[in-house]
Amino acid sequence: MTTPAPKKMEPRPAATILLLRDDQHGPEVFMLQRTKGAAFLPGAYVFPGGALDPSDGDERAARRVRGLSDAEASAKLGLASGGLAYWIAAARECFEEAGILLAVDAAGAPVAPARVAALEHLREPMNAGTAKFADLLEAEDLYIPAQEIVYFSHWITAAGRPRRFNTRFFVARAPRDQAGAHDDSETVHSFWISPREALARQERGEIEIIFPTRVSLSDLARVTTSAAAVDHARSLGDIQVEAAVWALDHEGSARMFRRADPPYHEIHWSDPEESGKTCFVIQPGVPKRLDARVTRLTAPNSGVMTGPGTNCYLVGDGEALAVIDPGPPIDEHVKRIAELGAGRIRWILVTHTHVDHSPAAALLKTVTGAQVLGRPRPAHGNQDASFAPDRVLEHGERLAIPGATLRAIHTPGHASNHLCYLLEETRMLFTGDQVMQGSTVVINPPDGNMLAYLAALEALLHEGAVILAPGHGYLVGAPEKEIRRLIAHRLAREAKITASLARLGGATLEELVPAVYDDVHPRIHPVAARSLTAHLEKLTAEGTVHAAAGRYALVKSPPAR
Ligand SMILES: [Zn+2]
Repeated sequence: MTTPAPKKMEPRPAATILLLRDDQHGPEVFMLQRTKGAAFLPGAYVFPGGALDPSDGDERAARRVRGLSDAEASAKLGLASGGLAYWIAAARECFEEAGILLAVDAAGAPVAPARVAALEHLREPMNAGTAKFADLLEAEDLYIPAQEIVYFSHWITAAGRPRRFNTRFFVARAPRDQAGAHDDSETVHSFWISPREALARQERGEIEIIFPTRVSLSDLARVTTSAAAVDHARSLGDIQVEAAVWALDHEGSARMFRRADPPYHEIHWSDPEESGKTCFVIQPGVPKRLDARVTRLTAPNSGVMTGPGTNCYLVGDGEALAVIDPGPPIDEHVKRIAELGAGRIRWILVTHTHVDHSPAAALLKTVTGAQVLGRPRPAHGNQDASFAPDRVLEHGERLAIPGATLRAIHTPGHASNHLCYLLEETRMLFTGDQVMQGSTVVINPPDGNMLAYLAALEALLHEGAVILAPGHGYLVGAPEKEIRRLIAHRLAREAKITASLARLGGATLEELVPAVYDDVHPRIHPVAARSLTAHLEKLTAEGTVHAAAGRYALVKSPPAR
């Protein structure tokens, strides 16, 4: 008998609005306390907001919006359509819950407070669903100024609660002279408060504020005016969703994860149903099923350079499998890979021939008879002398496995023979040591090459990867963002090198290390010297730096004419 998969509860679309005004000390935000009897977040202090109403998406409401089309709104939210309903819901909830009417008349002028007061009586029937926001806007000939309501953040509550929401947060400046007030039904108390003060009260245990509210308040605490807060929200580019998710440790205890936590993307990838039952701990020797096509088996070689151990991946869903990076020559590990493959391993692929990635290939070949694929070992670096590929893979070559197609991408830099593999069906990119989770890749000349490494990273941006499967650590999400971050990190170090050379006039490697790596422990300096050498080689190759008799100096720029 099979147990049916747990049914994922779809979160309800919702909108929340952070209303801001200024007092002499800075911005204040409007907060409400939810009634203790509420089904969702009883007693907590929140911003006005709630689930989208079917009427938020209708034509009549859309005609009452100024300055934003549904296509533009949807693009901002990353939706195919229906985005405008979130702006309408934000304005509607703002009136229902806070009594603040975010609207302008036909001439674009704000609504006078007396007129808003005269409409107060509509809040209750609107809340009860017997009156519609569009009725009010039509009757009063008012419009929602959508340009003044700015998309700010995106939160999805974790599974497991009786209610789930997929909420878009917006910021807007409250119209002048509208003070707002709670409705005394869903909410029982309200105030305008500085973000700092709200956080302080929460610290003291006087009020309850949940995580997304707290993060929003911390963001707002950094700005000095409500206008600056709105500008900040406008300047945000691609807003990433924060979808809290549960997973278990190796003893079965549940823990919640946020986007900033290293296992976050792996949990979402390997548990799309959000059952909360996936294990987030990387345990060497214990296979981890990442999806229908890929299982990871981490080798028992954890250490400073290898993190939890080298990741070996088994790829394919049929009668024949490929192994990527069998890892170090540990008999127990090779035995486990063979057991997991259960007679189906036909190909052994390696990303590169460093001793923690490829030496098990020869052993695994002996056990399975599989074909070994990769690029020959280079002359320099800590290479696996035993590596002998049956087939040399060229850039762009494809390997068809039942259920999966792997394409080799030559990515020299960390090692000159380094390959990444793109699983084309799911766009999972096996990165080897080109991208590691949790640590910086070592670029060690002469086989390591910084110029090639950065060019290879740039090229990976165009592969459309949706998830990275590194040689060490967890799956890495948001690949484009992560790769751009890695490039920026290296270029920031490079800028520090040229600034140090400009200041010192000229310097030896030994003199440069403490100047350029003043942010890392001196214990790390010998390793840092290798990276510095790689940077200096890149700058020399580019004509920015010249080297003579062990001294490096900036090449003087030609005099301006
Ligand atoms: Zn390596």
